[in-house]
Amino acid sequence: MDSEEFIEQAEAFLTELEREHYLVGAGRKEQLEIAAIFDRYPQLFSREAVAACLQEQAGAADPVAARYLAAFAADGYLEQAVKALSEEITNRELAATVEWDGEALPYRQVRTVLAQEPDQARRHGLHCRQLAVTARQHDLRAGRFRRLHQEAVSLGFENYTALCETLKGLELPALAEAMGLLLEQTEAAYAGRLEEALLAAGVTPDTADVSDILYCFRAAQFDRYFPADEMGRSLHRTMSGLGLVKGDDFGFILDLEPRPKKSPRAFCAAVRVPDEVYLVIKPQGGSDDYDSFFHEAGHATHYSRIAPDVPWPLRRLGDSDITESYAFLFHYLVHNPRWLRDVLGLPLSVAEEFRRFALFKKTWFLRRYAAKLRYELILHEGDPAETCQAYVDTLTEALQVEIAPENSLADVDDGFYVAQYLRAWIFEAMLRRFLEEELGEAWWGNRDAGWFLRDAWRRGQALPLTALAREIGYDRLDARPLVEELLELG
Ligand SMILES: [Zn+2]
Repeated sequence: MDSEEFIEQAEAFLTELEREHYLVGAGRKEQLEIAAIFDRYPQLFSREAVAACLQEQAGAADPVAARYLAAFAADGYLEQAVKALSEEITNRELAATVEWDGEALPYRQVRTVLAQEPDQARRHGLHCRQLAVTARQHDLRAGRFRRLHQEAVSLGFENYTALCETLKGLELPALAEAMGLLLEQTEAAYAGRLEEALLAAGVTPDTADVSDILYCFRAAQFDRYFPADEMGRSLHRTMSGLGLVKGDDFGFILDLEPRPKKSPRAFCAAVRVPDEVYLVIKPQGGSDDYDSFFHEAGHATHYSRIAPDVPWPLRRLGDSDITESYAFLFHYLVHNPRWLRDVLGLPLSVAEEFRRFALFKKTWFLRRYAAKLRYELILHEGDPAETCQAYVDTLTEALQVEIAPENSLADVDDGFYVAQYLRAWIFEAMLRRFLEEELGEAWWGNRDAGWFLRDAWRRGQALPLTALAREIGYDRLDARPLVEELLELG
């Protein structure tokens, strides 16, 4: 298979896969049938194909596109290698239940129930039962990571970390250093906010675990300010301010239709970029639902604005941190007091109170991911069965609540996705500061911001994040705007 054929097959494969995810997630198809799609493209993720892609990087006319293709091929190859183990873990989790109030509660629904349980003792009891189920898949997960590690070496990389770093452009040493600084600099502010949030939720700080944080994040007191029926309209108002809508046309397909089996969480499906991009939502309301709706709207807007003549690898593939940055740019509008007042009509005092809550949530996420990065660097260099203690120590130090060793492998996404998110968080804060300085604090109401973003989006993923940083006046990814934001409000 030559490179042209590979691209053709890759495009057909991803289109089918993404459409399958859309149909099932949108509640238009009963069952997810992924294996059949993989079976239709047996050559795509063969050893020969991935070896060819890795080799073609050297001396490629477009090194960025060649790297994206190599990353796509390697991801697919690794996924194939652990397919049976992944399926077994997923199926066991789907079948698992925990006994709760005399009934069998599906394992995957425990998180939602924990977030709504006001009694701490009951929360901790349910959390314990959840962890007992998680622990049962630990050996399978360890075997799965071990296999990923072996396959990375067999592809000619020093180890799994080196494969991810090289193919995804993660710049891990610089990122780890910046995140070490972030952990130091935000420690005091975080400790104060954590205590305040826990006390407000009726939790004594030194008894807190992760389930208490889930409960804090539920923040039901703000629900009435984030009504389900305003979601579509608030997005429309925002995008009109940026000059990004024509009449009722968002440029992507907004699927708001109620269907019984529709996914409760918003998602974006980029089936064909830029012409068939879906934003799917079953509006529930509440700040968390707004967060994920605007986040996914950022993805949908980005993908649907890429010029159709951009070569496919730069249009549909690419480092995830690029599209995640634009997703965060939309997502964090929901945390902006002025946007909350101007677009959603919140009284300014409520918007400011919400800002305080949102900053605590963001600081928690950043510290959690910074610690996860530190931990995953340890995990992927050693034996995955031996890293429970490192997980507990690293996350406890960063988060100051009780951390359960049972999650040491369940709490890890493949391929250092943790680093892609962190890079996107850093870049989004840089980009937002640039927009505010150039176009004003309420940049989302300025058509020039729309023009600027449209120009960036048109090119697809042709420029990696570090090159985009140079376009807005930085010589590299700089975590300072992000850290400064986390330190706002003391
Ligand atoms: Zn995202």
